Amino acid sequence: MVHTSREWNIETDLKKAIDRNEFRLYYQPKVNLLSRKIIGVEALIRWFHPEKGLIPPLDFIPVAEQTGLIIPIGEWVLRTACLQNKAWQTEGYLPMVMSVNLSVRQLYQPRFVQLVEEILTETDLKPDYLELEITESMMADTNHALPTINGLKELGVQISLDDFGTGFSALFYLKEFPINKIKIDQSFIRNCTSNTNDTTIVKTIIAMAHQLQMGVIAEGIESTDQLKFLQENFCNHGQGYLFSKPLLPDELVGYFGDIEEIVSQVGVPKEVKT
Ligand code: C2E
Ligand code: MG
Ligand code: MG
Ligand code: MG
Repeated sequence: MVHTSREWNIETDLKKAIDRNEFRLYYQPKVNLLSRKIIGVEALIRWFHPEKGLIPPLDFIPVAEQTGLIIPIGEWVLRTACLQNKAWQTEGYLPMVMSVNLSVRQLYQPRFVQLVEEILTETDLKPDYLELEITESMMADTNHALPTINGLKELGVQISLDDFGTGFSALFYLKEFPINKIKIDQSFIRNCTSNTNDTTIVKTIIAMAHQLQMGVIAEGIESTDQLKFLQENFCNHGQGYLFSKPLLPDELVGYFGDIEEIVSQVGVPKEVKT
């Protein structure tokens, strides 16, 4: 992209954003749809620009990836998310898994496994409480990606496959990579009760995850109809505006009880043991 001098140069500002403390992590709860408990949160970055205001991740993460700025930004995200998770544990909340989105440049940087290990040590967080979300496209260069993902797995962190169904060759990756959990993309959840193709796709992904002994989580649950459908089809976990939008830490902790309430109103199918 060519910028004239009058045009806003996002890259220039992005370079300064960490030092100027302009990023914030918001956290969206992940819920066990059967036991109703919060099992974890996903960290989602926002940029508060002094003049432009709130900039959502999809408007700057691609620029950060192209320019390599995703390396320091991604490191800031990992450290901040681990610190927050440790802080909640220290404050006495039940331990939860913190999920962090990775980008391809981060995963392919040399010494990424060591970096994650250093951050866990430094923040005194057990690896079981960290989950890294990767996407299908990140595994395309398998020879490069596989040793890193195996290294992360050996550290004890969990790996989940984000936006499942929207990339390429997903089944090969499921077979070759040590993936704990599949996240069904929200584009399939949106009409899962009204569009018969989506109904079938969602049911099939859930069944496949169970057969492969992987966890499965539905993204973008917005209605009680969707929740009911997912519960009836034994989808273990879910995430979406129905429970909560992404929130700041202080907002989130007041919310934990309300989420149990939403899930219990819909009910749990009788044949499921919670
Ligand atoms: P994602 O990881 O697939 O995250 C899910 C997105 O769906 C989030 O958008 C979340 O706010 C949104 N969402 C959650 N529940 C609902 C719902 O019920 N309905 C709808 N319509 N949307 C819902 P967000 O926060 O704008 O993030 C967009 C994408 O940006 C993320 O997709 C992820 O790919 C990327 N991203 C966010 N934070 C980071 C980060 O720290 N690092 C990297 N590398 N990427 C990030
Ligand atoms: Mg994600
Ligand atoms: Mg996703
Ligand atoms: Mg996405």
